[in-house]
Amino acid sequence: MFSRPLNQGLVLAGRRLQSSAAGYDLCVIGGGPGGYVAAIKAAQLGLKVVCVERRGTLGGTCLNVGCIPSKSLLHNSHLYHMAKHDLAARGIKADNVTLDLDVMMAVKEKAIATLTKGIEMLFKANKVDYVKGHGTLSGPNSVKVALMDGGDQTIETKNIMLATGSEVMSLPNIELDEKVIVSSTGALKLEKVPERLTVIGGGVIGLELGSVWARLGSKVTVVEFMGSIGGVGIDTEVAKQFTAMLKKQGMKFELKTKVTGVEKAGSIIKVHTEAAAGGDSKIAEADVVLVCVGRRTFFDNLGLEAVGVKVERNKIEVDHHWRTNVPSIFAVGDIVKGPMLAHKAEDEGCLVSEYLATGKDPHMDYDKVPSVIYTTPEVAWVGKTEEMLKAEGVEYKKGKYTFGANSRAKASGEEMGFVKVLACKKTDKLLGVHIVNNIAGELIGEACLAIEYGASTEDIARVCHAHPTLSEAFKGATQMTAFGKAINSPP
Ligand SMILES: Cc1cc2nc3c(=O)[nH]c(=O)nc-3n(C[C@H](O)[C@H](O)[C@H](O)COP(=O)(O)OP(=O)(O)OC[C@H]3O[C@@H](n4cnc5c(N)ncnc54)[C@H](O)[C@@H]3O)c2cc1C
Repeated sequence: MFSRPLNQGLVLAGRRLQSSAAGYDLCVIGGGPGGYVAAIKAAQLGLKVVCVERRGTLGGTCLNVGCIPSKSLLHNSHLYHMAKHDLAARGIKADNVTLDLDVMMAVKEKAIATLTKGIEMLFKANKVDYVKGHGTLSGPNSVKVALMDGGDQTIETKNIMLATGSEVMSLPNIELDEKVIVSSTGALKLEKVPERLTVIGGGVIGLELGSVWARLGSKVTVVEFMGSIGGVGIDTEVAKQFTAMLKKQGMKFELKTKVTGVEKAGSIIKVHTEAAAGGDSKIAEADVVLVCVGRRTFFDNLGLEAVGVKVERNKIEVDHHWRTNVPSIFAVGDIVKGPMLAHKAEDEGCLVSEYLATGKDPHMDYDKVPSVIYTTPEVAWVGKTEEMLKAEGVEYKKGKYTFGANSRAKASGEEMGFVKVLACKKTDKLLGVHIVNNIAGELIGEACLAIEYGASTEDIARVCHAHPTLSEAFKGATQMTAFGKAINSPP
């Protein structure tokens, strides 16, 4: 469905646009996954685009201090842990395995540098102008940039897209020094492996970074206010089994517990906790404390009030076109509703650019945005949990297939976890998929495709899956819901 083009005279579907007298068709503030992807997409569709970024490198939180550096450390710490604790059982002797943390960090930095520079090249190739500096709204169609190299520049533009993302936050009584009391950013560049690491917050980022340091040798304790780990949207059955698996790896969990303060005492840190519901306080010692209690939207000196952009509960209010209450200003990514995830930000940015260039009505179903925790095993899900279906009064059926019954998993010693599918009892329509296994983050893509296209579980059960692959476990789980039995799993 196509809606009326946004700016008469500016937007004509399918035709390359002339830059307006105003200068640019679109000015994107923020070069993270929301902003840079939107800028490239808009330029590919013929708009004249400029992107303003204050960090000095493109890629935002994701590439600089988020998804990419954490995955580099997760991958390489996993290999180290395997070499030390797992390879011998596979018949591979690797004596005297030692850690060179400096090299591991350098590999991470190289990945960041290559990828962020890669975006600069994509900007050039797609003719997106890149302005390094801090952008402030100076009107509904103008942005004033305090340039990194000094001085300022005013950009006149038909439309503005805000994609300023989020930044780390702490608890009110805990001051981060990024050396021994660190946020995720500090935890990505510790200079040595702490003997004892306390992680405050058992959400996705806390578990991933806690895992990194646990694999490298730290004794890790996760303190979580809620009764379970994994953050918002995780299925309860998954969270329980996942906790048990991480405990087996040596991580400790203090659930339903709140941290009331941390105190430096010489070279150690005293962590004060008490039960979430209140009670006696306890003190534990740590060498490093990692605070992972969520992220806050970043609006510093953005000029939202001056231009009158509405903010509700720390998020910019947008309509179904991601348009703010100021018609020429749009907002995407971490600063608007929905999960704080890079792929969600990217998709929103692309949809807005398409809308601006072609008038094509955007649509995004937040129920179908996948989530992944990149631990070992990985945990991934898309769609509804059992708890959601119960709360919504939807009658459902469940199919669960363990990787222990999958031949490829057996052959390669990757048997941990399961695939669980949830389907409508009446129509067999796939409603939710939850996967625990090392390849969960890859396998969830098949589930996203199926759920997006409204597949029944019988559809999936009848699709030919290559053998031997771990994806056959997904097929097996759908055989359970579609036919009541799976071929390769006991009833
Ligand atoms: C440790 C960690 C791991 C993560 N892992 C994952 C993961 O595995 N998968 C996933 O999907 N998500 C992950 N995330 C979340 C993901 O990084 C964010 O959801 C994503 O980066 C949001 O994209 P964005 O474009 O909205 O904002 P950001 O990536 O935060 O980018 C915003 C950019 O705007 C710039 N900016 C801000 N204000 C201005 C201004 N006024 N002028 C100019 N520039 C400005 C900032 O410098 C920044 O570069 C992780 C986050 C962290 C911290």
